Amino acid sequence: MATAVRDVSIFGEAIAYFNEAADLLELDSGMRRILTHPTRQIIFSIPFQRDSGEFEVFTGYRVQYSFARGPGKGGIRFHPGVTLDEVTALAFWMTWKCAVVDLPFGGAKGGVTCDPATLSSSELERITRRYAAELVEVVGPDKDVPAPDVNTTPQVMAWFMDTYSMHVRQHQPGVVTGKPLEIGGSRGRVEATGRGLTICALDQMEQMALDPAKARIAIQGFGNVGMYAAKLFAERGCRVVGISDVTGAYYNEKGVNIDDASAHAFKHRSLEGFTGGERIGNAELLTSECDVLVPAALENVFNAENAAKIKAKLIVEGANGPTTPEAAGIFKERGIVVIPDIMGNAGGVTVSYFEWVQDRMGYFWKEAEVNERLEDILLTNLREIRAIASKRGATLRTAAYTLAIDRVVKALKLRGIYA
Ligand code: GLU
Repeated sequence: MATAVRDVSIFGEAIAYFNEAADLLELDSGMRRILTHPTRQIIFSIPFQRDSGEFEVFTGYRVQYSFARGPGKGGIRFHPGVTLDEVTALAFWMTWKCAVVDLPFGGAKGGVTCDPATLSSSELERITRRYAAELVEVVGPDKDVPAPDVNTTPQVMAWFMDTYSMHVRQHQPGVVTGKPLEIGGSRGRVEATGRGLTICALDQMEQMALDPAKARIAIQGFGNVGMYAAKLFAERGCRVVGISDVTGAYYNEKGVNIDDASAHAFKHRSLEGFTGGERIGNAELLTSECDVLVPAALENVFNAENAAKIKAKLIVEGANGPTTPEAAGIFKERGIVVIPDIMGNAGGVTVSYFEWVQDRMGYFWKEAEVNERLEDILLTNLREIRAIASKRGATLRTAAYTLAIDRVVKALKLRGIYA
């Protein structure tokens, strides 16, 4: 779904959430100043030649927001809506996401302003290789470790890893995560974000006495996050009543057959033409009858206009930044519980961390081991967030930021400011 054009800074809005938690922590103004400035923002041109012979120039970004807790970590997004403001906000969120699940990473994010739907595979490869080549000095297993994000696949990670390894004249699988299994990827990484989301959702549903066998779930987005979340919800016996992608939304009160939907999406590369549910509008899906709502597409999905109309009791954020601060205020007032992005979609980066660990050891785990460790990390930290929320009377989002900021601040204070 296209991001609505809004005249506000996404990074500015992200800072609003930060400030709420910083107030709870009574963080001093100096620390606030440090934490609301990215460490490094890199912008560069990516000239490339189309298959037709024509030359074009795209813009590439990498924002390394924080190194306080370890190397930078965060995906690379290929999308027409990529801007420096968006990449900075996403790098800022990665900082808190890694901290909230206690991974030894800082936060970073990258992107290229382009539309992969209009690019051939070899054009995509040339863009990826040039993007990687521009970043050779500033990425690496101990510097900054990219990963997939919107429109970037394990194949894109393979090209990135190969380009980097060629430049440094050394096999370096740990420079990126989300790689194919054959070249140092981790079992369970592809499904990890969706799996993490369902782990958090089911645990929260138990708290709210929402019976998984009866709860109706609607999911916006049918990419790597939404599709695997839908599959795993269905596997646990939940009824996924609504799904959507850029081409439209599909609602079925009896439950959409997720195997059919994913087979359709794989075959046609979208849900267009899917007949397993009534076709409704994308906006309608968000306000449809459901108990659990999962935004798993892009930013700014819930806003001042639609927040009052949402019927779900629980929202689990698969996308980064789907809720504007105005909508968050309305949800709080209406008693709608939100598992925030930095917790709800942290399964992906957690298994990225496992991949990085396995690459460094050169020893690979069975899928069951990956999934077990993932569940342990997510539930331990989700429960900690819940305890903070009830102690402080805060939302789960503010509690998650509080936990994450506290961890980053402790690291910063121990290290001190180098001058
Ligand atoms: N792009 C994913 C995210 O937003 C994964 C990042 C990673 O694995 O480093 O969390």
